[in-house]
Amino acid sequence: MKIVRLSTYHAAPRWLFLKIETDEGVSGWGEPVIEGRARTVEAAVHELSDYLIGKDPSRINDLWQTLYRGGFYRGGAILMSAIAGIDQALWDIKGKVLGVPVYELLGGRVRDHMKTYRWVGGDRPADIIEQIRSYQALGFDTFKFNGTEELKLIDSPRNVDAAVAKVSAIREAFGNTIDFGIDFHGRVSVPMARVLLRELEPHNPLFVEEPVLPEQAEYYPRLADATSIPLAAGERMYSRFEFKSVLAGGGLSILQPDLSHAGGITECFKIAAMAEAYDVGFAPHCPLGPVALAACLQVDFVAHNAVLQEQSIGIHYNGDADLLDYVLNKEDFQCIDGNIAALPKPGLGVEIDEERLIEASRNPPAWRNPVWRHADGSVAEW
Ligand SMILES: [Mg+2]
Repeated sequence: MKIVRLSTYHAAPRWLFLKIETDEGVSGWGEPVIEGRARTVEAAVHELSDYLIGKDPSRINDLWQTLYRGGFYRGGAILMSAIAGIDQALWDIKGKVLGVPVYELLGGRVRDHMKTYRWVGGDRPADIIEQIRSYQALGFDTFKFNGTEELKLIDSPRNVDAAVAKVSAIREAFGNTIDFGIDFHGRVSVPMARVLLRELEPHNPLFVEEPVLPEQAEYYPRLADATSIPLAAGERMYSRFEFKSVLAGGGLSILQPDLSHAGGITECFKIAAMAEAYDVGFAPHCPLGPVALAACLQVDFVAHNAVLQEQSIGIHYNGDADLLDYVLNKEDFQCIDGNIAALPKPGLGVEIDEERLIEASRNPPAWRNPVWRHADGSVAEW
């Protein structure tokens, strides 16, 4: 079997799909994308296709190493996302050829279902309590929301108090009937993270995500020493080699690699195993589309330390399309009491509605994250 074609499709809300076709009619799907830079990753995918056309798709490990090591310059958001989507599609092909889900090829399931959580509140949270109540009625008991809006490097206790009051109101409304993670989203500086973590600790968040930017990763152990809240990060780290230093440095309790950014299934399977050796949980980042989620689930079902799966049903980014809009086998993604069962179909377990995707790709939006500014006009972290 040989790879004969790579085709890419942009689609709302901000996704890029990759289809890899073979000369024997079997094809696989991937989602190689960086949110807001889809065109750049797409160009990288097509540039890398030189290494793939005419090759045997079953040799995933060799192709992965070729894409990674074959370039003298490697790593980073764009190249590792391109490799990630290609890797997902190769695993999809392999599973389909052998007639089994990818988790079977990785040694078989360690769990019966995977716990997911639900995003609430969007960028500028307002009606979080009502949203949680409505999702709680659907069976969800674990949530995530943004901790703050823009925050200055040194900010007023007034803004800290507002962030803490929101969390305290949620805890007061629901007591211990729900769990929640709080995403600092890299918006918080090291000095303000110290203050916020201290003030939030009495409200028992399940974790705080990106307490500071990954560029400040050397502060993770020092922040962790100052709080009992588990710290999580990883969506902006792209390979084992980046996770190696944060694991060795300590401080993180949960790693959140993105299966569409960190080299795909091949790489994230290894990152999960590295985390397990440090007693660190694995909770893949996934505010993306259905192929990315399917890839996450394949690894969740074989990683003993997988604790939670993000998923983007109803997420605030999904204005023009929702998670399952381009999926034929929607029933397989059913969330029952917040849990998803192992996807039963071969390969990644997602059947793409190609007609609908092609139609959507005729007029795709060019999504960009907002550029926020502080009151003085300077750029703020979003
Ligand atoms: Mg995040």
